[in-house]
Order: sequence, then C-alpha cells, then structure tokens
Amino acid sequence: MPLSKSLYIRGLQCEKSLWLKKKKPEVLQAPGENAQAVFDTGTSVGELACELFSSGERIEFSGDFDAQIAKIKELIKRGTRVIYEATFCFDGVLVMVDILRIGVDGIIINEVKSSTALKDVYIDDAAIQYYVLSSLGYEVSRVNIIHIDSTYTRDETLELEKLFCVQDITEQVKQKQRDIPKILNKFDEILSQNNEPSIDIGPHCTSPYPCDAREYCWHKQRAIPEYSIFDISRLRSDKKFELYGSGVIKFNNIKRSK
Ligand code: SF4
Repeated sequence: MPLSKSLYIRGLQCEKSLWLKKKKPEVLQAPGENAQAVFDTGTSVGELACELFSSGERIEFSGDFDAQIAKIKELIKRGTRVIYEATFCFDGVLVMVDILRIGVDGIIINEVKSSTALKDVYIDDAAIQYYVLSSLGYEVSRVNIIHIDSTYTRDETLELEKLFCVQDITEQVKQKQRDIPKILNKFDEILSQNNEPSIDIGPHCTSPYPCDAREYCWHKQRAIPEYSIFDISRLRSDKKFELYGSGVIKFNNIKRSK
C-alpha cells in the first residue's frame, strides 16, 4: 500500500498516529459530523477553485491507482495544460495535485485550501507533492497555495479571482526537500515494526489537526478522566502538559500538590 499525502502529514504530526492508521485502524474514531462538514466544505471550495483554471481535464477515479497514474502521464504527454486531481506515485509515495498547470517553464502545483490563511502544515502538504513530481523527473517551476481571501465581500456575482488568494510558496517547499527522504525512511522503519511506537500524549494530539486516536491514547491507555486538568479553560496548553508531566491529572491532584 502506498503512503498517501494524508498519511505523510499524519506521520509528521505523530508517528504513533501513522502506525495506528496502518496497523490498528480499529482503535481510531470515525469522523464526526463536524469533521465531515469541514471535509464537505473543502470539496466545494476545491471545485470552485477549479473554475479559476477552466478547460482542465479530470480523470474519474476507477479505484485503480496504476491506471489513474498512467492516464495522467498520457494527458501530460498529449500537452494538456490543466489537470485536476492529477495523481503521481514515486517510490511508494502517492500524491494528488489539486490543480496541475503546465506552463512554459514547467509544472505549477496548486494546492487548494478552504481556510483563510496560509498554515505551516500546508507547506509540508505541498512539499511532498513537489518531492514526488521532481523525483519523477518533472520540472516544477512553482508551487501555490490557493485559499479563501477573508477580505472579499461578495456582490451580486461571485468573483472567483477576488474570492481566492494565491500564495507562492515555492521557496519554502524547496527548503523542505532535503529532509523528506530521511522522514520517509523513518516512516518505513516505524511501519515495519509490530509494536506501536511509544509516544506520549501532548500538544501534537490536536495540532495541526485533532487526532482520531484520542479516545484510545488519552482514555484507554493513559486513563485521562472525563474531567481533568485538560478541561481548565483558562490554563494554557503548555501549562496543562507541564502539570500532566508531573503527574497531576485530576482537579483534586492540584489541591494535593499545593
Ligand atoms: S492521540 Fe496523540 S499520541 Fe495518540 S496517536 Fe494521536 S497524536 Fe499520537
């Protein structure tokens, strides 16, 4: 099974989460209504962004990645200028480029996000796409993140050029390239093991994304009660983990520690 872009991002957030997803998926929680709503919004925004680059081609996914990859290769060979959700695979790493454009200087990777700002995780997201495409021998001239411009106010008609903001992140993506082979080797090593990695809970459980193994790690393994120091609303996250690190988990533990 190839390592997808979302698994790569999962592994960067927490190697245990990557291991669980591949080896023990039954402990992960299914996405709730909120997560599904976020996903649906992302899909709608992605479709709208495609309209910024009209006349592109899309290969409907048949369930066969090899066939999909071969068709994309063929489209590029035929001189197609814009391809939506273009799939590529290099050395077991599979990526889908939201909107791929072929310009005079090479390929432009456009990654679409439904958020209103550029986030660090988006750079990693685009960096693995750049890694796969450049390793396959394609000349990538530019990498963009396309996200919603929060300053845009809609009039009668929706103006897509104003709704979306395009940020060039090529340099940031290039700076990530040197570390990617080392990261992928580490992931291979982790996934070759039969025992789950020993990683404690921490701020990484919610950042950059809420982890779907929280029930398992927090409650089943670490026995964090329903109400704990993590529910103190005015306490900073780093302070909560500092208390947790010193063995303080329940409210009454705080009183005793005074
Ligand atoms: S809940 Fe936290 S420790 Fe457990 S897999 Fe997820 S990120 Fe890792």
